[in-house]
Amino acid sequence: LWHYIDQQFQASFTLVSYRTWIQSAKPVALVGNNLKISVPSKLHKDYWESNILTKIVEIIYAHFNVELNPILIVAAEDDADLTAPEATTEPAKKETTEAATETNRFLTNTHLNSKYTFETFVTGTGNQMAHAAALVVSEEPGVLYNPLFLYGGVGLGKTHLMQAIGHQLLTNKPNAKVKYVTSETFTNDLVSAIQTNTQKQFREEYRSVDLLMVDDVQFFADKEATQEEFFHTFNDLYEEKKQIVLTSDRLPNEIPKLQDRLVSRFKWGLSVDITPPDLETRIAILRNKADADQLDIPDDTLSYIAGQIDSNIRELEGALIRVHAYANMKNEVISTSLAADALKSLKLSDAANGLSILKIQETVAKYYHISLTDLKGKKRNKGIVVPRQIAMYLSRELTDSSLPKIGMEFGGKDHTTVIHAHEKIDQSLSDDQDLKNNIAELKNLLKN
Ligand code: ADP
Ligand code: MG
Repeated sequence: LWHYIDQQFQASFTLVSYRTWIQSAKPVALVGNNLKISVPSKLHKDYWESNILTKIVEIIYAHFNVELNPILIVAAEDDADLTAPEATTEPAKKETTEAATETNRFLTNTHLNSKYTFETFVTGTGNQMAHAAALVVSEEPGVLYNPLFLYGGVGLGKTHLMQAIGHQLLTNKPNAKVKYVTSETFTNDLVSAIQTNTQKQFREEYRSVDLLMVDDVQFFADKEATQEEFFHTFNDLYEEKKQIVLTSDRLPNEIPKLQDRLVSRFKWGLSVDITPPDLETRIAILRNKADADQLDIPDDTLSYIAGQIDSNIRELEGALIRVHAYANMKNEVISTSLAADALKSLKLSDAANGLSILKIQETVAKYYHISLTDLKGKKRNKGIVVPRQIAMYLSRELTDSSLPKIGMEFGGKDHTTVIHAHEKIDQSLSDDQDLKNNIAELKNLLKN
């Protein structure tokens, strides 16, 4: 079983991530469906909880049709109670757990991550508005901003902020019915309700809540039946003045193939974006994280790490974990030069994996005989705009960079500009043979 999990993760993580997070973990015992996993530090445990556990449950369920219940322990406290995974149950959890289907019991159990609260959320440029709106909604649900639509790039805190609303509402009103789902879970629940003829229960479950949070609704794109069902869910809740909170990586009208009636409803309340944090905010986030995990890291080292990673808070936290793991491995105290070493190996592996955005920009600029400055700049003439869009398109297609990161590399443009450019080129490709040839040539150039 472990071997299989290990293999799956080896295939889907970069080598450095794999070594840092997966290889250091050990299976300890399997009792019934409870798999006890030992990880080397609290930082690892945090990372596993936010990024790995659900994946393991899904992998095992998909392959063995077994519903696994992984339990994490930090190596030092080896004799933790096997039967009590996370005893911090919210009052409202019980109700939702009972209604949950067999297959997602684990996911529903932990439907709110106990760490995603307002207390642990650092505010700064980029998220201030979203934070303020979220607070208002948690204090007075269903009154002012309904729905609240939070949008922005990957790893910028949308899920964190959304769940903070849930926690806060439960603190204020312990009997409130709070439901958090990803858009995929909504779809999966719907599909299984249809298969088992339990649509009635499905509707009761979703339409009886005080707060419904649906994460990453961009994945509703193209899903007709889901959109149909969600339309009615939305209307019911809205009429009852129940609060709806949605997140997405882009604005409602930018979600492809989203029914107009949903687009317009999503815009009824308030849409707020979250943009990448500035350096000070990134340092504050790292400081918080280091303190919470009781890590002794000098300020200049935190500033250094914050300076290295600018567009994704999850990656920022990942870098902190890497530096910590690296120091453990080398048995040295954490310093800026050690951090530089630890993050260098990360950069190298990224570069070895593929192409840099800069390389794409240089190649495209040269190909169209324009300057790199113009390509990354703001000029609006066609001779420059089209190559710029092509370079953005290729950056999205050929690198792992997030949308905000790509926007950043193009002179600090918004991620929605990148989405727009990508869509524009994607559409033109279907009927513009010249463009097709040019892109094929560019891809060829980039290969060498
Ligand atoms: P998204 O849903 O936008 O992809 P997440 O909410 O999953 O991003 O955030 C990624 C990680 O970064 C999480 O571990 C989250 O706790 C952390 N994070 C994001 N924003 C903040 C913030 N402002 N303060 C503290 N931690 C944050
Ligand atoms: Mg998210």
